Amino acid sequence: NRQILLDNRPHGEASTTNFRLIAEDTPPLRDGQVLVRHHFLSLDPYMRGRMNEGKSYAQPQPLGQVMIGGTVGEVVESRHPKYQPGDKVQGMGGWQEYSVVDAGQPGALRKVDTTHVPISHYLGAVGMPGVTAWYGLVKIIDPKPGQTVVVSAASGAVGSAVGVLAKARGARAVGVAGGPAKCRYVTDELGFDACVDYKQHRDATSLAGALKEACPGGVDGYFENVGGLVLDAVMLRANAFARIAMCGMIAGYEGHPIPMQHPQLILTNRMRVEGFIVSEHLEVWPDALKELGELVGSGKLRPRETIARGLESAPEAFLGMLRGRNFGKQLVQLV
Ligand code: NDP
Repeated sequence: NRQILLDNRPHGEASTTNFRLIAEDTPPLRDGQVLVRHHFLSLDPYMRGRMNEGKSYAQPQPLGQVMIGGTVGEVVESRHPKYQPGDKVQGMGGWQEYSVVDAGQPGALRKVDTTHVPISHYLGAVGMPGVTAWYGLVKIIDPKPGQTVVVSAASGAVGSAVGVLAKARGARAVGVAGGPAKCRYVTDELGFDACVDYKQHRDATSLAGALKEACPGGVDGYFENVGGLVLDAVMLRANAFARIAMCGMIAGYEGHPIPMQHPQLILTNRMRVEGFIVSEHLEVWPDALKELGELVGSGKLRPRETIARGLESAPEAFLGMLRGRNFGKQLVQLV
């Protein structure tokens, strides 16, 4: 069983030298345990935060241990009555080829139905990123028909679902993404009303000008994945009583400062800004996954994936995602 451990913590930007690849035998199963062979490993921005020491909403990743991460795969051996070899499952197996799971622990493992939905989507649109989109859009932004919702990192795992969910509620969906290919996907394949390429703009005033064209009626809801320049630009276009769902600020994850330029607009526009962590809202997961499954099944949400091959490619693929080299959900295929 090959595994990738966090070997040391980054000083400044993360690099491949922070990780270490090892091989170990899997221990024999005890009663209640199952052995899962991972087909896909999910790479997610939150992992960058876990690499740091210091307090956050989640514990830091311990050094010398397998990197945390969502996985989907197949049960190959079982000593738990509810699981049989061949069952397809989703769990938190981490950056390794196999995991031994205490299957009876609440939330440790979930069986997934792969008849209509490819197994990899359970790490994206019909998994944690999809539910993240659903929570921020439905519970915080709560768009009314005709209102305008903007989302940053719009071609990504979370962003793509935000726009499609907003359209399903009769709102106008506008994406912000890096580069013409990502913007084309956002409008042509996901059905957003417009998409702005932030890389064409050097400052918030210029980006706000482009947003003005894309959002002639102003911005009523903003789903924030990025921070920095994009946030500043959207603030300049916000309507009175606009809501911001603070989901992520990836522009700052490597330690670059992302000061907010116009906090006073929160007051003058009487805005509501709310942060959230999807794992703290388990009550919405069933409703969210039902709607997301239907949107994927009906072809309204066509998630894109960037797939790196082999466990050894995980560190490089992870660092690439932090720099926007992924296009859609970043995965590592292991089988
Ligand atoms: P994505 O698939 O969207 O991948 C990350 C994308 O972020 C990149 O492709 C890139 O797209 C964009 N990006 C990276 N750096 C910058 C930058 N400096 N400025 C602007 N854009 C940048 O990842 P996810 O969909 O998995 O995650 C999206 C966000 O959601 C993250 O911030 C993540 O932390 C957050 N999140 C929060 C959760 C919560 O519970 N609060 C749960 C899950 C995710 P581009 O090329 O378009 O710039």
